[in-house]
Amino acid sequence: MTEILRVENLTITYYSHSGSSQIGVKNINFSLNEGEIYGIVGESGSGKSTLLKILGGMDSISEGEVIFFEKKMTSFDESDYERHRRDDIGYIFQDFNLLDGLTIKENIILPLTLQNCGPEIIEARYKKLLDFLDIKDFENRKPDKVSGGEQQRAAIGRALIKSPKVILADEPTGSLDSGNMKSFIELVKNVNQRFHTTVVIVTHDTFVASNCDTVAFIEDGCIGEIIHKSDFQEDFHDKIIKIFTQVR
Ligand code: ADP
Ligand code: MG
Repeated sequence: MTEILRVENLTITYYSHSGSSQIGVKNINFSLNEGEIYGIVGESGSGKSTLLKILGGMDSISEGEVIFFEKKMTSFDESDYERHRRDDIGYIFQDFNLLDGLTIKENIILPLTLQNCGPEIIEARYKKLLDFLDIKDFENRKPDKVSGGEQQRAAIGRALIKSPKVILADEPTGSLDSGNMKSFIELVKNVNQRFHTTVVIVTHDTFVASNCDTVAFIEDGCIGEIIHKSDFQEDFHDKIIKIFTQVR
């Protein structure tokens, strides 16, 4: 297994104008293997979004290091960060973050439009995703005219279309009912299998976590136990619930 990302002794501190400080995450260590679905489970305020924002190059590192494909992120300059956000990372948000004024298709192809890709490339990439994501029926509708599950499918498409090295998903099922949540996680697993995409999902949902290959528990900014998938998903789910209940 190829290690593609390593987080070493990462600490993120937020400073306010008044001089007070707040720890986002504290002395975090973990690594990601290529093609893995990695779940980070923790309660609200435990540091999940802080961690994802750092991996996604949306915030800067206060202490420690993140090594992404053998490059130290502390040595990134502004253009490296820009390239990282644009080319390396696909981001899926809890509230979908689709643009209301664009159709579902326009939303999905937006990352390529912004990269000034030619129309042939855009169409070819879009076609590759169309059947897979089952979006043909609503591709010309605006986001407010489709369901939450369909919006989240479009959000996967938007994250996937630029073939990122890693997809980061911040509580992606938080706004979905249980049916759509299950379809979402199935789709993520299909994406992972078909495109061999590495996925990091942060969640406080134990069922979502039980579909990951590795699960790390985060509490008060610190990573505690890290466990790996068992042969039976139910057993893995039970184990996750047990640890998460203790953490809480
Ligand atoms: P989670 O995503 O698990 O709910 P966060 O990463 O958003 O947690 O927050 C972790 C901690 O960092 C919390 O105590 C939160 O209040 C604090 N925090 C997050 N973002 C900021 C910020 N921009 N400024 C100050 N404190 C922040
Ligand atoms: Mg959060």
